[in-house]
Amino acid sequence: MKRRAIYPGSFDPITNGHLDIAERALALFDEVVIAVARNAEKRPLFTIEERVELTHTATRKLKGAKKLKITTFDGLLMDFAKKKKACAVVRGLRAVSDFEYELQLALTNRKLNPGIETIFLTPRENYVYLSSNIVKEIASLDGKIECFVPANVKSALRKKYKK
Ligand code: ADP
Repeated sequence: MKRRAIYPGSFDPITNGHLDIAERALALFDEVVIAVARNAEKRPLFTIEERVELTHTATRKLKGAKKLKITTFDGLLMDFAKKKKACAVVRGLRAVSDFEYELQLALTNRKLNPGIETIFLTPRENYVYLSSNIVKEIASLDGKIECFVPANVKSALRKKYKK
């Protein structure tokens, strides 16, 4: 049986930190599904279609890209993971600040479905303080973002903030 992992998030937009985690997950599983959350309540900068498209383009050259799927989801993550017959959910752990929320999420998800493990992966040091929010803030102030995001995301951000 294929060992499939779900990597869920807003990906608003995808950054080099997300790519780093996705690549690590691809090295561990037979298939990794990046699940882009609709997240209407978070008022994302990019539409769901834009986030999926940016993610598609950005992940094309990842090591193991053939084993990567990209899809959207809404509703309960554990229901989605079960439907996809996943054995694990992958989350990125950056600084200590991620820990409490991620622990709460992982333990709650385990209550909902004890058969699906949450695993945490840590990015390389350069990306430990990187988040989509920080990148959006820098882009909105016209700062340099090329070391934080892939080229297609850089141009999409430039376009958004030009309007
Ligand atoms: P969410 O709204 O679910 O937090 P994000 O897109 O912000 O969605 O993040 C999705 C996942 O990717 C989370 O597990 C988050 O910790 C992880 N992540 C985001 N940025 C990084 C990064 N720079 N390094 C490692 N993991 C990251």
